[in-house]
Amino acid sequence: MQTAKVLTLDELTSFCIKRGFFFPSGRIYGGLRGFYDYGPLGVELRKEVLDDWWYFFVRRRSDIVGIHGSIITHPRTWEASGHVEAFFDFLVTCLKCGKDYRADHLLEDLGIQLTSVTLETLSSVIKERGIKCPECGGELSNPQPFNLMFTTYVGPKREKADEVYLRPETAQLIFINLKDVYYTAGMKLPFGIAQIGEVFRNEISPRGFLFRLREFTQMEIEYFVNPKRLDDCPMFDEVAEVTIQLLTAEQQERGSDTPLRITLREACEEGYIGCKWHAYWIGESIAWLTRIGLNPERLRVREHVKTELAHYALQTFDVEYYFPFMGWKEIEGISNRSDYDLRRHQEFSGKSMTLEDDGETVIPYVIEPSFGLERILLALITDAYRVVAGRPVLSLHARVAPIKVAVFPIVSKPDFTAKAREVYKLLKERYTAYYEEKGTIGRRYYEADEMGIPLAVTIDGQTLEDDTVTVRFRDTKEQIRISINQLTLTIESILAEWDTRYRGALDLTPPAHEQQLRKP
Ligand code: ATP
Repeated sequence: MQTAKVLTLDELTSFCIKRGFFFPSGRIYGGLRGFYDYGPLGVELRKEVLDDWWYFFVRRRSDIVGIHGSIITHPRTWEASGHVEAFFDFLVTCLKCGKDYRADHLLEDLGIQLTSVTLETLSSVIKERGIKCPECGGELSNPQPFNLMFTTYVGPKREKADEVYLRPETAQLIFINLKDVYYTAGMKLPFGIAQIGEVFRNEISPRGFLFRLREFTQMEIEYFVNPKRLDDCPMFDEVAEVTIQLLTAEQQERGSDTPLRITLREACEEGYIGCKWHAYWIGESIAWLTRIGLNPERLRVREHVKTELAHYALQTFDVEYYFPFMGWKEIEGISNRSDYDLRRHQEFSGKSMTLEDDGETVIPYVIEPSFGLERILLALITDAYRVVAGRPVLSLHARVAPIKVAVFPIVSKPDFTAKAREVYKLLKERYTAYYEEKGTIGRRYYEADEMGIPLAVTIDGQTLEDDTVTVRFRDTKEQIRISINQLTLTIESILAEWDTRYRGALDLTPPAHEQQLRKP
């Protein structure tokens, strides 16, 4: 069932463009690096994933509410958060051809393992190893910090005083709205605020298709907890027995790359995860990522080593996905941000950021699960993409599949097409549906498989006699016959039972060549 050869980024990118998931933005003008537009299938996939995230983390729960903040906000926000001062990567420029590189990526691409990404280390490695521009062999400049925030101006004057930033993360909008949400929604600690929205980072070298973009979408929760109650998590038992693949900071510092297979309860007891609320959010994150169809075998939780911890973080874990063409890469970060942000906003705004908790006045600590939508979509498509009998099949989980059902008349004759259009109309009221009458039925099934459509309904000779149709399953090719008046009910129950009955048909064991690659 699996792809025989390793999937390449080029193969996946052309597949996504060809099928209308994503297009390079401004393609007719040569494209703009780091920007992609969503096509018809991509936009439906995006919507399914965002809706399910919002359902799982907000609507289903009573302790989390949402906000939708502005993209341009008061510039003091980013001074307080530390972004003006500390949100940068290191830039080196070729003194001959002028090409820009992100210094740590340049060295990584040359196979140089860095112990830390500081100005000193980067400068000395470049100097000692005599690193030159890979493009033209020219001398490189000294590394310089480069702030990743995009700036623009508000109002008619283009002066320094009118300069503002496009938000580089959604989190700060949650912090600055905390008190308003707390009072208007009547929240009580512990509670969370969620937000989905576009963010902007002027990445020095965007790459990896959707992986490193300059405009992307974050789905973030800031979960506020009394700092004295970080282990007082009433929901902990719901996730405690979940086994994760955990790579601790200590293991990495020893040079080990083999994750522990450990339950969240054990990870807390052993002290690998600093507090139960942090472990709980790791558990919920893995639960959602696997719920939308990611293979748990390709997910691991990696702790940040000291030198990579952000200025605000006490402890951070990245949920990483194994991309066959890039290796383990972050798709979500889960940080304990302590009370850093709230204290800074209190200091910069002069407004109190304290909340009441059982008669106690506290500045809460924050656990932050931060998901990047586009990286998750890239992981979903990578995970679902397989080549079966020489043809691509996109085995997306039915929960997020952009189109749920295809409708095909077996032949393009008036009686058949009229009936098929009737069925299509009926289904389109409830589901994203696709209709095609041209071409052989085999070719149309292949097309549907490539688009990731889990079910195909076919109108054939028997339909005209007894009003029954066949329903074909994308992953097993199994077909069942049911009557049209049972169709929506049947599809409803098939989609609802996808995890328990139909997902099992997929072989989720990573292919042998991948297991080989993953060996430390
Ligand atoms: P990286 O180290 O790869 O630059 P980060 O640690 O800076 O990422 P966060 O600030 O933790 O990323 O952002 C949360 C999430 O946003 C990440 O887990 C990732 O999924 C997503 N993300 C971050 N930067 C980008 C980007 N340039 N393009 C697409 N998604 C991104």
